[in-house]
Amino acid sequence: MFWNEKMERLNGAELEKLQLKRLKWTLTQAGQVGFYRQRLKEVGIRAGDIKTLNDIRKLPFTRKQDLRDGYPFGFLAVPLSKVVRIHTTSGTTGKPTVVGYTRKDLENWADLIARNLTMVGLKEGDVFQNMVNYGMFTGGLGFHYGAEKVGLTVIPSATGNTKRQIEMIHDFGVTAIHCTPSYAMRLAEVAEEIHADLSSLKIGMFGAEPWSDSMRGELERKLGVTAFDSYGISELYGPGVAFECQERDGLHIWHDCYLVEIIDPVTGETLQEGERGELVVTPLVKEAMPLLRYRTGDITMLLSDDCPCGRPQKIARITGRSDDMLVIRGINVFPSQIEHVLLRIPEVGNQFMVYIDRINHLDEMTIEVEFNHDYFSGELADLARIQKKVVKELRDTLELRTTVKLVEPGSLPRFEGKAKRVIDRRGVD
Ligand SMILES: [Zn+2]
Repeated sequence: MFWNEKMERLNGAELEKLQLKRLKWTLTQAGQVGFYRQRLKEVGIRAGDIKTLNDIRKLPFTRKQDLRDGYPFGFLAVPLSKVVRIHTTSGTTGKPTVVGYTRKDLENWADLIARNLTMVGLKEGDVFQNMVNYGMFTGGLGFHYGAEKVGLTVIPSATGNTKRQIEMIHDFGVTAIHCTPSYAMRLAEVAEEIHADLSSLKIGMFGAEPWSDSMRGELERKLGVTAFDSYGISELYGPGVAFECQERDGLHIWHDCYLVEIIDPVTGETLQEGERGELVVTPLVKEAMPLLRYRTGDITMLLSDDCPCGRPQKIARITGRSDDMLVIRGINVFPSQIEHVLLRIPEVGNQFMVYIDRINHLDEMTIEVEFNHDYFSGELADLARIQKKVVKELRDTLELRTTVKLVEPGSLPRFEGKAKRVIDRRGVD
């Protein structure tokens, strides 16, 4: 066995003891970082002041902006000579965030991925195609080394050339794939066009962007896989932080390596099980870059500890990011809710774009979606009927009036990496 399987199911007092020990270690490790020395001094906390897990609330939060401000190496707790790899996160705004890994960090990370892969039922003999970017993005190399650790036959196909990807799945008898859910949708679309046989596939692992249960149904039907949700962020190693087990009802977050809190994103107040808020994580075993109470920006909630698989600590699937959340005329809207509605309507496709404008001081949301040719006889009345239906369904779910434009199938952009479906054009008016 390449990791301590007992850790996966550790629970109760034994788990708390381990978490507390590791939290104290992390605090000491964080003391090597100038930023934390300063912050801890400001709040007057020393490692010895942490006596129970609840004392974590005395510690300051770490925000993504703090990491940006520390660019490039301000958050390293070890000399650069001990860092054996560097990844960066995509810098959508400003500087990227740098993440460093010691040799031990890479081992821990590969172990976590291996845990996830075996949890969904993969083992030696499976052929795994990893269809994500292998560069600075952590999804590529992260999954790669975990998969090799399990003994899967790994195909590092990375992104691009969808027809070639499909050919490899067929020719190599691929049983499991990993990619973004939007790319999986693209893969299914192209496979259908060229009548490709993907019948060797059993398992699809999708992550790096939020996706809905209706999209799961669609992907499973089109690709013939059982689809699992994968969660991770680069600042916490990368993928492998939490993963769905075979119950596929929430994600197990690896409690021996990550201490989890849910907070109100506005007030910072701690929320209880079943209350939706921002996920805050304190990694417990990170050497090169320890973090205290890292605000992920991802919106989820803690679920009760009664998964039939016996592993503790689950979070709900991510419904969006606190910074993805759109506020339209005072109503909170996540792009994933729009996707969920559209996937339920057979008359339209699964590609969409959202445009937000401010017209006469009022927010207006316009959704472009492709109509489905099977429901269009050529009569304009068909389009009017479909459009009315989409508007009504969106209003029922979002409690918001929207403008819907139907466009030709195939005319909207397809995404290979993270989808960018929302264009907010509201300036200051
Ligand atoms: Zn489970």
